Amino acid sequence: MLDKSIKELSEGLQSGAFSSVELTQRYLDRITRLDSRYNSFVTVDEASAMAQAKAADARIAKGEATLWTGIPLAHKDVFCTDGLRTTCGSRMLENFVPPYDATVTANFKQAGAVCLGKTNMDEFAMGSSNENSYFGKVINPWSDEIERVPGGSSGGSAAAVAARLAPVATGTDTGGSIRQPASFCGITGLKPTYGRVSRYGMIAYASSLDQGGPMARSAEDAALMLQVMAGHDPKDSTSIKQDVPDYAAALEQSIKGLRIGLPREFFNAQLDSRIQNILQDAIKVLEAQGAIFSEVSLPNVELGIPAYYVIAPAECSANLSRFDGVRYGHRCEAPEDLMDLYMRSRSEGFGDEVQRRILIGTYALSAGYYDAYYGKAQQVRRLIKNDYVNAFGNVDVILSPTTPSTTFGIGSKGEDPVQMYLEDIYTITTNLAGLPGISLPAGQIDGLPIGMQLTGNYFDEARILNVAHQFQNATDWHTQAPHGIHD
Ligand code: GLN
Repeated sequence: MLDKSIKELSEGLQSGAFSSVELTQRYLDRITRLDSRYNSFVTVDEASAMAQAKAADARIAKGEATLWTGIPLAHKDVFCTDGLRTTCGSRMLENFVPPYDATVTANFKQAGAVCLGKTNMDEFAMGSSNENSYFGKVINPWSDEIERVPGGSSGGSAAAVAARLAPVATGTDTGGSIRQPASFCGITGLKPTYGRVSRYGMIAYASSLDQGGPMARSAEDAALMLQVMAGHDPKDSTSIKQDVPDYAAALEQSIKGLRIGLPREFFNAQLDSRIQNILQDAIKVLEAQGAIFSEVSLPNVELGIPAYYVIAPAECSANLSRFDGVRYGHRCEAPEDLMDLYMRSRSEGFGDEVQRRILIGTYALSAGYYDAYYGKAQQVRRLIKNDYVNAFGNVDVILSPTTPSTTFGIGSKGEDPVQMYLEDIYTITTNLAGLPGISLPAGQIDGLPIGMQLTGNYFDEARILNVAHQFQNATDWHTQAPHGIHD
């Protein structure tokens, strides 16, 4: 049961092999039994999940079921859920119960899926290890003799899917937060083209970069999730009016003759030779299916991290100014005056990394520095985008590493935040360019999973899902599970 695909679960539900109540209870029991080990959930609402499952069973009985009816899933705690606490991993929102659903969560509700609960994350989606959550760190189910990070910021979703505490989960990716944890936890995660998935009701970090996307055990399940998530939304002014293709239908296409580019700047001497070897093996698998590889150049990608770590904090400083202790969120005790209310509420409500980003961002946006920092970073961003546009003149898909290493030990990155920022080296430029990217398991190093990344042209999610699916048809890295998970 735990390894069944969404399609198989759906068939099982509709044929009566098991009910949604049984399936949902099975996952809730696993969460109760095992999640004290991983801490991947912040909030689980058993009563509401069981009520949704019952309603789904009633629809199935009436013959009104569709693919997602009765399928359990988990949502990253960045998506607002009507009546269900949404914390964004922060003390600031510890008791926040949204009065409305994000478009993404509403879409899954509409499709009949059952929400098991909300997954842990780095506070306000800032981080690459999930060590920044007010609700405690998440432990990677692949941990060996040392406790390892699941990656971040969607680390709770990635750990939950890897540990089979949910069949699939939603995530968000501003600078790698779906793909990097997918790589560390041995699952498949896709960041869509900017504007493909509505940001309405998704708590904002850096609005010009944020995108919600699927986290699953296979490209096929990710495609089925994206089908529910994607589409124009009048409630999000940056949502794009473009038809959503049938992602599942494109999965089985042949990749014969498909042109795949290997960016010279990513396959350099800095790349760990073991990752290099894993990617070479993956290239051979795709070559055997007729894909044609060539080198491409993205000369400005080395500027990705500095540009991102100006732009994202700048946007975060503006977005997070709404948390002022007045309208909602944490409020300090007995403020003396308005300044005291603002200062203490924000100092108490936000953790260290969030405060660091707000300070950097406010500085980068302040009069006299705007042109030198924020303006300059935006120019660099355009150069990076142009690099990708040029590369996509010659190739259909770009293949690269997702992460510079496998999962690292909890606490091992020390006190220097820049060490953590360097984690995002291969993922961040996709966000700056607004392109879609997927990470899928490509191999293991010392028993720990590692992903490869496929970047597609704008709105070409179907193509990267197709390549990922073809790779998964020919390999079994995506079916590997952490030890002891089925006990
Ligand atoms: N690690 C990056 C950061 O801390 C990316 C986070 C994300 O994609 N939400 O900003």
